Amino acid sequence: MGAAALTYKAPQLLFLEGNLALKERAEREPKPFDAVCLTFHDLESEDIVLQNIFYLLEDGYNPISVRDICNHYSGLDDLSGEKSFLVTLDDGLKSQKHALTAVSYIERVRGEQVPLLFAVMAFNSVSRDDEIALDSPTYVESGPPSNNSHEYFTKADLLAILGNGQHDLANHTLNHANLPTLTKKNLQGELEITQSRIKQLYLEAERREGPPNVLIYPYGEFNDRVIAEVKRQGFEIAFSTEESSHHTTETRYHLGRTGRT
Ligand SMILES: [Zn+2]
Repeated sequence: MGAAALTYKAPQLLFLEGNLALKERAEREPKPFDAVCLTFHDLESEDIVLQNIFYLLEDGYNPISVRDICNHYSGLDDLSGEKSFLVTLDDGLKSQKHALTAVSYIERVRGEQVPLLFAVMAFNSVSRDDEIALDSPTYVESGPPSNNSHEYFTKADLLAILGNGQHDLANHTLNHANLPTLTKKNLQGELEITQSRIKQLYLEAERREGPPNVLIYPYGEFNDRVIAEVKRQGFEIAFSTEESSHHTTETRYHLGRTGRT
């Protein structure tokens, strides 16, 4: 009985000590770090994703998830001094299913998990009869823009991606909006509506941790006004398309990424 009580208490103590250490770390300024953030759009096959990931793995880079970057900025993790990479895929395009095939292959042959971050628009997750009340110049009646021929992930596709437990979704706005050009109201709506849609998807997929608070700027476009709104809505980090793999406190809301397709 005594021994059982001891073994019961020990994890709690460890947990408390761990929490104190985390709190101390959180009070420190996050250090600059280097992480290659790859961006893919349309994919013809899994080849280009495989080539890029294999190249980085062979070169000693470790795959990280977007949550690792959030944790770095909140002081829960420290990525400085590490060679790491993150794979992002923009626009919720159906052809990006090839990336899923690529990473399950890598897991099979190398035993390494490569988390993917899919930047999706809200219209990926709504049906045509859904009501979205937003008076936006780019508002497209909850369907993809009619002037392009891309095929997009459906809600079912996104739920399947989330069901894997390893990949995440990032906010890419409601309508792929050029954020600096929007009115205050539309700027707020483009971010808020999409984030609440993504939250709903995580709930439906029974992902307990909820979505990361991460924004990926359409066209990589942002300005000070956009960043102020991004912070106000509680986003932890945001990605641009600046070609840089060096990240600092100053670049937290416009992290660089390297385009691949
Ligand atoms: Zn985009």
